[in-house]
Amino acid sequence: MTKWVYLFSKNKTEGDRSMKNLLGGKGANLAEMSSLGLNVPPGFTVTTEACINYQNNNSTISEDIKKEVLQALKEVEAATGKKFGDASNPLLFSVRSGARVSMPGMMDTVLNLGMNDSTVEGMAKLTGDARFSWDSYRRFIQMYANVVMGFNHSLLEATLEDLKDARGVHEDTHLTAEDWKELVSVYKRIILEESGKSFPTDPMEQLWQAVAAVFRSWSNPRAFKYRDINGIDHNWGTAVNVQAMVFGNMGDDCATGVCFTRDPSTGDKRFFGEYLINAQGEDVVAGIRTPQPINNDSKNDANQSLRTLEEVMPETFAELTRVYKILESHYKDMQDIEFTIEKNVLYILQTRNGKRTAKAAIKIASDLVSEGLLSKEEAILRIDPEMLNQLLHPGLDPKAKKNVLTKGLPASPGAGAGMIAFTADQAVTWAESGKKVLLVRQETSPEDIGGMHMSKGILTARGGMTSHAAVVARGMGKPCVAGCNDLVIDYKTKTMKVKGMTFNEGDYLTIDGATGEVIEGLVPTIDAEITAEFSNFMKWADEFRKLGVRTNADNPEDSAVANKFGAEGIGLCRTEHMFFEAERVLAVREMIFAENKANREKALAKLLPFQKKDFLGIFKEMKGKPVNIRLLDPPLHEFLPHSQDEKAELAEYLGIDIREVEDRGEKLHEFNPMLGHRGCRLGVTFPEIYNMQVRAIMEAAVECSEAGVEVYPEIMIPLVAVDKELSTLRGEAENVIKAVFAEKKKIIKYKIGTMIELPRAAITAGEIAPHAEFFSFGTNDLTQTTFGLSRDDAGKFLPEYVGRGILGVDPFVSLDQNGVGFLVKHAVTEGKKVNPNMHMGICGEHGGEPKSVEFCHHAGLDYVSCSPYRVPIARLAAAQAALRK
Ligand code: PEP
Ligand code: MG
Repeated sequence: MTKWVYLFSKNKTEGDRSMKNLLGGKGANLAEMSSLGLNVPPGFTVTTEACINYQNNNSTISEDIKKEVLQALKEVEAATGKKFGDASNPLLFSVRSGARVSMPGMMDTVLNLGMNDSTVEGMAKLTGDARFSWDSYRRFIQMYANVVMGFNHSLLEATLEDLKDARGVHEDTHLTAEDWKELVSVYKRIILEESGKSFPTDPMEQLWQAVAAVFRSWSNPRAFKYRDINGIDHNWGTAVNVQAMVFGNMGDDCATGVCFTRDPSTGDKRFFGEYLINAQGEDVVAGIRTPQPINNDSKNDANQSLRTLEEVMPETFAELTRVYKILESHYKDMQDIEFTIEKNVLYILQTRNGKRTAKAAIKIASDLVSEGLLSKEEAILRIDPEMLNQLLHPGLDPKAKKNVLTKGLPASPGAGAGMIAFTADQAVTWAESGKKVLLVRQETSPEDIGGMHMSKGILTARGGMTSHAAVVARGMGKPCVAGCNDLVIDYKTKTMKVKGMTFNEGDYLTIDGATGEVIEGLVPTIDAEITAEFSNFMKWADEFRKLGVRTNADNPEDSAVANKFGAEGIGLCRTEHMFFEAERVLAVREMIFAENKANREKALAKLLPFQKKDFLGIFKEMKGKPVNIRLLDPPLHEFLPHSQDEKAELAEYLGIDIREVEDRGEKLHEFNPMLGHRGCRLGVTFPEIYNMQVRAIMEAAVECSEAGVEVYPEIMIPLVAVDKELSTLRGEAENVIKAVFAEKKKIIKYKIGTMIELPRAAITAGEIAPHAEFFSFGTNDLTQTTFGLSRDDAGKFLPEYVGRGILGVDPFVSLDQNGVGFLVKHAVTEGKKVNPNMHMGICGEHGGEPKSVEFCHHAGLDYVSCSPYRVPIARLAAAQAALRK
């Protein structure tokens, strides 16, 4: 029989932290904390399976589930000594969502559930505070109307503002019990008028409705969007946590706050957090009041004059310190903890592994190893390889002139610059048309998630380090400056004023999320600096990985970046990029237009010195590491002149008429160039081209070697489909190489091999292998040709395929393991049958994508090759693949 409800209380706890899939992250951790004996208000979790059951059951909560809820409710009543719906000693609940992975702010919450006209009086007596009790009641009605009944939040909020105006007060705190009481009846009247239904007074009805609303909120559009962005399965469902209320807003001996056991931005070992006296949890994250620092370590420009929790409630702070230490060593990770203090008693409402920047993630994992809490292996498995992207991305150029307008909180590091967009929708529109956008908001809310995702950075006028903007940006790895109080944003006029200057929507602005600076215009950026901590962490990864990691680079500069990131060689040097430089392209065009071999050779002779220089530069940079150079691959028409000016220039250079240039261009036109006269087909029909390239490679290699620079060239022949193509071209290349060795009286080591990037090559790898010293899987073309899907046109429909789940992921991003992967494995097996020691790697874009790297590990490849900035990602992904076994 399915169990739908799990209790957590001091007397009895049924779940634990291993049950995240069933109880959601929040529910699993509430159970775990209860078992640890921490002061957690008792409650129960309705499982994610119950959510799915609700959805499949015509949006009704089944009788079985209801029965278990009623049973659990009794237990919570026993644990608290209060009764749900009781007029004299009422138990109130918070009802919160909690999915397997945290989806901050995406789903719904109802607080103070169980309030009605009689429990409000009971609460007033019990607390001796009628004002508090009526305030709680009106908050409940407001939340319930919004979440359960679907009322627009601003409808009731406006009534509150009217009341304050009428009373001539600015702060909620200046309203009296009578005021709140009046507001409650106004709220009820509006609800009846607008919906035709009375506000439900039966607590049980409130509970069923709230649970159902949380289940439904799993499917609301913003939650859907969040899951799409973060690759979260839409079928998981959310759990619902029903927990006894504790109040942080019962007076000045009450408070509510959020803390991190280490700094989520830098990873520094400092206890860090914010709180608000006399407030409910939502107030801290909503960014409406400036939160106070919990201790001196949490002070920043915005809050330094405010009193710390340590000063205001020293004993409770000491208890919080004790608790955070227990939680951190129990979970062996940085925790993000939510707490409430009711009448000086500390309650822990939530703990979870805190979201953090990549820099903080590395620092924390490294420190936890030094502190003996984690092994190196565990630390390596903790870091999401994609996260390293953040570390490897540019910051502001410190030498660049910048006009710093003001400073906000440094909420998430990195430099971000773009056109100001004041709404998430505007940000999305501009970003989709290829513009760089900076989202500037008063504060962000979960509805803005799409716009945040598309922006280069996020700037908010309100909110602290734990505000929605800060937390979400950090998770996304986006630069964010939050709580920048100097900004005066006017959504109506679409302007922003700061220090006497006015900015319009569309003007450029730059932020530095590491310092909190807000800067006028677009400021140049510089590459990321590799810290000692990062290098050390990557060394650990290297101890475990079995796969080599090379880079795809075709100039000395990119090779240098890749070296800095730990590349062990070049896995693909695309020679065609070298042909596009202005001074060479004319000679390339001359070669294409040559009508006979002699003229072609004449043009190629002009290119030879350029190519040689290219290879010299790369060999020198790579200092003896293998450099895999691919002979010319793209269809020749890619090099043809397009504009009239270029055509005229070429006509003059060749001494022919411009019309002839055009005619020849026409002749070279292909209907399907990706499957046309390209790759080794060029080498077969115009052997002079490859001969020139091979000569340039080997002359450069010999020259380096003579100058004492070690070299190890690998010559790669692309787009082979048939073994004879390779055997023919290899024979020709070897003739050239022999000639170079004889001329230079020097021999160096080299290899000749092929790309496997056509299905026929993969299928007949056993026939091709005798002619190859290595295989390099060109999974871009192999994906294109296996799917029969044009790399250049797939963008028009692939997103819809992925959106509708026809394809799980874009196969050009993550290797299609069943189809393309099948061919790769087959080719590895067949190739190794012929030559068990044949060196094999991958050089398609997949070589830097963690899941594909894991596949390559299991497929028995020797290395992956990827763009320079992805080298560390591949190194870490390879280590994780080895550790996961
Ligand atoms: C490939 O096809 O995977 C490859 C690396 O070559 P290119 O992308 O240059 O076609
Ligand atoms: Mg290719």
